[in-house]
Amino acid sequence: MGLGPVWKLRGRVRAAGAPAPPKAAVERGEPRTAPRRPPPPRFDPVPGINGGAKLDSADERASRILRMDWPELKSAVKACEACGLRKTCTQTVFGVGDEQADWLLVGEAPGAEEDARGEPFVGQAGRLLDNMLAAIGLARGENVYICNVLKCRPPGNRNPEPFEVAQCAPHLLRQLELIKPKLILAMGRFAVQTLLGTEASIASLRGRLHRYQGVPLIVTYHPAYLLRNLPDKAKAWEDLCFARRAIAGLQSPGTVPT
Ligand code: SF4
Repeated sequence: MGLGPVWKLRGRVRAAGAPAPPKAAVERGEPRTAPRRPPPPRFDPVPGINGGAKLDSADERASRILRMDWPELKSAVKACEACGLRKTCTQTVFGVGDEQADWLLVGEAPGAEEDARGEPFVGQAGRLLDNMLAAIGLARGENVYICNVLKCRPPGNRNPEPFEVAQCAPHLLRQLELIKPKLILAMGRFAVQTLLGTEASIASLRGRLHRYQGVPLIVTYHPAYLLRNLPDKAKAWEDLCFARRAIAGLQSPGTVPT
């Protein structure tokens, strides 16, 4: 692809199972129209679900979503107008892949191409992601599920608002519950900071095993960011190797890297 370092499989893979654009905008590979703003609040569990407090009426919508099966959830997202982003996007981008995958890859929100095609991680960044997956013996749709924190494209590719993240949170939570992945790979600053509830940089969070909703989570760069920062592809490769070791360790308790 002429994108710099070539993604190669190293060893046998066990595929178990605004002076300047805000960094998040750069990571997604498209210009932003909004100035940098603080990261969103933590993508908290919905009360009453996943060990939270008792539900009240305000949580009715979330509770309903968190009881849905796949067809119901897909229909609900398609019809959703909860945060207003649906008014300006072309279509919802639900997610694609193996619905019983061990690997769940989570990005930020649909960009222009994703919005047009209805699929996450497409275009040049998507091709790079496919190459990255192939380098560790994985393929889109085979033991891998790919989605975003938000299912609708923010207009002008601006950063998602906290309200939008909160409204869409039950969708991702339900995807997580239905898939039951062994590992989450959070890709890009926004997804990482949203899921982990932190303002820390990707650089400071890499190389460690985090948890989201009890599921091991590893942090890495967004493929669109890597297209603009080729030297960091080596770091992303390290992250993938770490993830591969982690998921292998999860199948062999006692060997999970920390
Ligand atoms: S981004 Fe999520 S909450 Fe907002 S309208 Fe789209 S599906 Fe609904």
